[in-house]
Amino acid sequence: MKGEFEFINGIRRTFPVPDGITGIGDDCAVIPQTDGWETLVSTDILVEGVHFLLEDISPYQLGWKSAAVNFSDIAAMGGTPSGSFLAIAVPRTTGAGWLEEFLHGYRNISGEYGFPLLGGDTSSSPDRVSICVTVLGKAPAGTSLKRSSARPGDLICVTGFTGDSAAGLDAVLKGRPREGEVPYLIDRHYLPHPRIAEGMSLARTDGVHAMMDISDGIGSDIRHIMEESGVGAEIDVDRLPLSDELRAYCRRFGADPLDFALNGGEDYELLFTASPQASIDVPHTVIGQITENRGLVWKGSDRDFNGFRHF
Ligand code: ADP
Ligand code: MG
Repeated sequence: MKGEFEFINGIRRTFPVPDGITGIGDDCAVIPQTDGWETLVSTDILVEGVHFLLEDISPYQLGWKSAAVNFSDIAAMGGTPSGSFLAIAVPRTTGAGWLEEFLHGYRNISGEYGFPLLGGDTSSSPDRVSICVTVLGKAPAGTSLKRSSARPGDLICVTGFTGDSAAGLDAVLKGRPREGEVPYLIDRHYLPHPRIAEGMSLARTDGVHAMMDISDGIGSDIRHIMEESGVGAEIDVDRLPLSDELRAYCRRFGADPLDFALNGGEDYELLFTASPQASIDVPHTVIGQITENRGLVWKGSDRDFNGFRHF
């Protein structure tokens, strides 16, 4: 296989999308409706051994995260989730208690944000757990924020902190003692909070142009905005919002926070571009600027960052 994005681009070339619909290439498909709204749809898989280690993540956390990563794609368009579908395959040996706890986590995040589970599918699997969630959402017609609307001169902004989730994963994989800043970082990895309210507010703010959520790391995600919008970007690595916990972890274990913030993923924060004149209520950090020149410049570092790739 050539690469995850080449594969997706191949699908995109082979299956043209009907006029008026935003299909492959954004966080959600956007389907216009006749009642003044547009429908948002997205689907994401979580595979044991790839997206989670069954021996470490609790079933509660896995249930929460399965819904959270999907709701985050609705947040990335500035939409409101309407409901979800849950397809799950588990080995026959999986206990009833495990499934109950999984549903408890799924129910708690769905309840917190007020989205019903509307259907799905259940199967046995030869040995591993796989989960596929589909979310539906909506936004007033024409207001969904795409990856393709960044303009030269826009500021590049992010909500929250970047890199915490990837550091949490690093702590899990390296078996770090669960003390000090480590439990916080692992929680950020296992129990992400999609930025639904922030996304909706940004979609209603004049001058906010492009948006997506950070799932593969800024080093990868900013390139999607660049490609879809036909622009370049300059990111000042000294301006990245890094939490005290991430800095402490990196000092203690001799790691570079930029690796977590730019090459790691799963922060599920919002990455957006906005005109310098936009008056933005949502707490955020400006990390760079969109440029006309198509290239990507990392100001303050002589390294390149590519984010996470599946293959
Ligand atoms: P995200 O990280 O936001 O979930 P992805 O990087 O997984 O987005 O996907 C990028 C785009 O490619 C999305 O528009 C998604 O719908 C589309 N896509 C990914 N895999 C496939 C596939 N197997 N078939 C059709 N479209 C796909
Ligand atoms: Mg996304």
